[in-house]
Formats: sequence, structure tokens, C-alpha cells
Amino acid sequence: MKIQEADAKSLLLAQGLPVPAWKVARTPAEVEAAARSFLEAGAGRVVVKAQVLVGGRGKAGGVKLASSAQEAAEVGSKILGMDIKGITVRKVLVGAAADIVKEYYLGAIIDRASRRIVLMASAEGGVEIEEVARQNPGAIHRVSADPELGLLAFQARGLGLSIGLRDPLLSPFVAIAQGLYATMKANDADLVEVNPLAIVAEKASDGAAIQRLVCLDAKVTLDDSGLARHAGLETLRDLDEEDPTDAQARRLGINFIHLDGTIGCMVNGAGLAMTTMDLVKHFGGEPANFLDVGGGARHETVAGAMELILADPKVKAILVNIFGGITRGDEVAAGLIEARAQQAREVPMVVRIVGTNAAEAARLLTEARFETASSLDEAAEKAVAMAQGATQ
Ligand code: GDP
Ligand code: MN
Repeated sequence: MKIQEADAKSLLLAQGLPVPAWKVARTPAEVEAAARSFLEAGAGRVVVKAQVLVGGRGKAGGVKLASSAQEAAEVGSKILGMDIKGITVRKVLVGAAADIVKEYYLGAIIDRASRRIVLMASAEGGVEIEEVARQNPGAIHRVSADPELGLLAFQARGLGLSIGLRDPLLSPFVAIAQGLYATMKANDADLVEVNPLAIVAEKASDGAAIQRLVCLDAKVTLDDSGLARHAGLETLRDLDEEDPTDAQARRLGINFIHLDGTIGCMVNGAGLAMTTMDLVKHFGGEPANFLDVGGGARHETVAGAMELILADPKVKAILVNIFGGITRGDEVAAGLIEARAQQAREVPMVVRIVGTNAAEAARLLTEARFETASSLDEAAEKAVAMAQGATQ
């Protein structure tokens, strides 16, 4: 699950990371009020940033500075309603603008090959890390944390040194890198990215010029499977931006991943769904989705899943493969019959149901003139032929 910058910053703040204060505003008047509060508190300028779940907002014109509350309101009215990569901006973050000396990149990811959290850093901050990886992969430095020990200070110090940081900024960098690691662990995050991590120029209370490291941007993605372990994280889901297909799948409690092929698959169990997709490919077809209706699927779930599959105009045939354990075959058959009665377009379908109440399922399906198959091979072969227009 992706979350907005403002929410990502709250998670960083909770781990004690240096994040400048911000307010979220939804109207130009709210931008103006927020800007005034930062300017009155001593900020020279304010920054107004689009809150959308895509990167590259700066380049798209979604990050702007303003010197007065009125100018902030004007900038805010431009950004609010702006389209960034197909998403309409509905809210902005307002904060005191930092005086940036240099921008770095710092990110934490899960490296699945080593099954460890890896920290990545680069002195080429502010630009997208994928871009740096393409153009200058040597500029990205990595350290891998042992899950028993966590990210050790010497590792973080080495990472800081490799991107050119020196005292007195090295110790703060160590704390920040360890804070990113802690943010990953505390929230079951897949990714925590601070880009830019910036050296900013500030005035100390005695007027002396000082430099500090601060997290100017934050991107966090959470592991969906970990959400249940953390009270409160679910509330960070941005319903404004959720894909309607994903939202429906979540409501139905099914696992649905959209793919590029023409054969819609409805299967129970992730392993069986993978096998079904493999067989579709084996017989020369391409799956349009991965869909696991889960254990004990009721007929409403089956009907809802069918709607999701049919919402994809590329789907030319549907393959239903159900192994009835907890799931009852007749319940699934009833769901399929109900779904077909309501479905908006005719798509050829082949159904294989084995296990609990399979005989009753077969009777219902035959009565309703469904194409059935007794083996998975047969079902996959038929679905591929249907998609290619060989049988209709
Ligand atoms: P992104 O483009 O979506 O990654 O958004 P960022 O928050 O990273 O902002 C993009 C760029 O805007 C940064 O790399 C900075 O150069 C600039 N920027 C962001 N915040 C500030 C700020 O407070 N002061 C100044 N001067 N520039 C900023
Ligand atoms: Mn950024």
C-alpha cells in the first residue's frame, strides 16, 4: 500500500527522524492560513507540495515555493486540481521552505534474494534513483543489515562516508539511516525512501550559521499482508487514489492481480492459481489476471470476482478452476450461474470443479449449459482455444 508523503513523514517522525514541520491543506484558503503560520514563526519562504501517490512531482510542477501567504494561496490554487501523471491533486503539504545546500538519496528496501533489509545511498539526490541506477550505477552505495543485529552504526557510518559525508554530519546520518531501518521494521514496510535527504543551512538561536541533515521528502510503501499487525496503518490508505478494481477486490476479500493476457482465471488458492496460469501458458495462452477467491468462497464472492474479470475488455475467455475443500463446489456453481445471468457481455467460459460437492456442481452447470472440463489440462486447453476463437 502506498501512502502520501505527509503520512510517510509521520512514520519517520515517530522514529525520531529530523523532518521539518508541515500542514496539509485542501483549499487555497487553507494553504494561505498554513503558510501564514509558518511565515509568522520565522520562515523566510514556504514550500507547497502536491500530495499524490506518484514520484516526480517536482518536475511536473507540483512543488513550488512562495514568499508570502498570498503568493502561497496563488501557488496552492495552481497545484490543487492539477493533473500529475493522470492523478488529480486534492491536497497539498505546506511547510517552511528549507535552504538546501546539497541533496542526497537514502532508501531502505527488502532485498528478496538475501532476505535482508538493504540501505542504499547516493550523493546524486533529488533525482529518481531508477535514473541514477541506469546512468551511473556506481553512484549507488549499499549495505545489508543482518536481521538479528539490525543496521549497525559502523555500517551506516561506512555508507555515509561513501557518499562523501563527514563530521559533524556523519553521526546524524548514522541516526537517520538507523531510523529508516527502524521505520521499515516498525511498520512492516517494503520501502522507505528519503529523496532528498538534504543538508540545509539554518541559523542557530545565537545567530550562528549551521548545517543540518533533514528529510525533505518521504516515500513509504507498506506490506499489505502486514497491515493487520498494525492498528492505525489502514487509516492511511488514500481512498481518493485507490484503483476501483483494487478497491472492489479488497471489499470482496479476494487476491486479484491484473495481467496483460486474454484469459481470465478464477481459482481458489494461490498455488492452484499459479499452476492454472502455468498451464494456460503451456497450451499457448496468456492469463489476463491472477485471481484467488480464497478458501470457502460464497456465491456472492464468485459473482463479484466474475465482475472483476469481465471489467477487463481484453478478456476473451474465462477459465474457472476450483478445488473444493472448505469451498463447496455447488456454491461456486450457483455463483457462476448468477454471475452469467447478470453479466454485461458474453464471454466463453470453461469450468472445472472437483472436490466437495463436485457432483452437485456438475449437475447445476450442465443444466445451465456451461462448458465443463474434468481435468485441469482439458480446461486450460479449452480456454486457450476459446480465446483464440476456435470454439465459441
Ligand atoms: P518529488 O519530485 O515528487 O520527489 O518531490 P520532492 O519533495 O523530492 O521535491 C522535488 C524537489 O523540490 C526537491 O528535490 C528539491 O530540489 C525541491 N524542494 C523540495 N522541498 C524544498 C524546500 O523546502 N526548499 C527548496 N529550496 N527546495 C525544495
Ligand atoms: Mn523526492
